[in-house]
Amino acid sequence: MSRGTCATIDARALATNLAKVREHAPNSRIWAAIKADAYGHGAVETARALHAADGFALATLDEAQALRDAGIQHPLILLEGTVDADQARQAIALGCATVVHQAEQLAQLEALGPLVRDQSLWLKIDTGMHRLGVAPEAVADYWQRMSALSALPVGLLSHFAAADEADAAPTESQLAVFERCERQVGSVPCSLANSAGILAWPNSHRDWVRPGIMLYGASPGFGKTGQQLGLQPAMTLTSPVIALRDIAVGERVGYGGRWTAQRPSRIATLAIGYGDGYPRQAPDGTPVWLNGQRVPMAGKVSMDMITVDVTDVPMVQIGDHAELWGNHLSVDEVAANIGTVGYELLTRVSSRVPRHWRHLD
Ligand SMILES: *Cc1c(COP(=O)(O)O)cnc(C)c1O
Repeated sequence: MSRGTCATIDARALATNLAKVREHAPNSRIWAAIKADAYGHGAVETARALHAADGFALATLDEAQALRDAGIQHPLILLEGTVDADQARQAIALGCATVVHQAEQLAQLEALGPLVRDQSLWLKIDTGMHRLGVAPEAVADYWQRMSALSALPVGLLSHFAAADEADAAPTESQLAVFERCERQVGSVPCSLANSAGILAWPNSHRDWVRPGIMLYGASPGFGKTGQQLGLQPAMTLTSPVIALRDIAVGERVGYGGRWTAQRPSRIATLAIGYGDGYPRQAPDGTPVWLNGQRVPMAGKVSMDMITVDVTDVPMVQIGDHAELWGNHLSVDEVAANIGTVGYELLTRVSSRVPRHWRHLD
């Protein structure tokens, strides 16, 4: 039986945010990033809600298998490629485009020979993030060897490290490196832009854009919330009040007694904790939305519960639902209070929290 804590996912918000990506990048195709269980929203349902995307970007073969099992036939791309020949074979069988970012991956594909003939391949370039990708000087050689394997055009891919930052220099430098590589291989499909690139770097859009976080209505950065960027939150995380008590000045709340009442206070206990993915690091004062206003966290996050100070909320009752983030309280604002990003809060919501889908009707 559920405790009443749940994540409501709004299919219309997902579709609206996808339309927003199209507005920003009207001449590009869209790989919707639905890795990590669609940033915690549920991969298969999210793929259905985003059926107007041109393809889906994934991190693991299991994700690709789950989508194919659910009958989803869109193009897929495995963003980090495969780790061995077996996986490469599986990716081919699933019709999932693969990325080559280092030498072993290319050797594995070459060993498979003719099997790779109809496989869509992308070469990832390290344009300055220094996480994945082949060095710019090696691009021409890799690209030629990959083109000898597949009959399809081999694309070029890279990833931005700081496209959401005020300082344009790192992104300009990455773009310049990418363009130098592009000139060496001629006119091929290219893909660079994540959400931040889509919003702030129109000259990076190229053939395929790869939005993730903006589809879910959260912000990639810029010191703004998703709503301030014109996006609609797809997930609203709610939990009921399961206990209420009045405590005297000087009484302490929760593990270690981190929070102390400075005035006679009313404390509400909610049925959500770090076992549900709500971060234990949340400090006192982290906002929670209850009965039309923000209330501050009071005391440490427990595994199954949190406590909030509702002294200033007129009529709180057992069973009232609080919003941890969503339509009234931006996940980006909550994340800023905790010292993390909306990406992490969304992907951490655990499997114990049921996802309830609201569909378009
Ligand atoms: C996750 C990911 C994206 C999407 O990034 P957002 O910042 O969520 O838009 C794009 N490209 C790659 C390679 C990724 O790993």
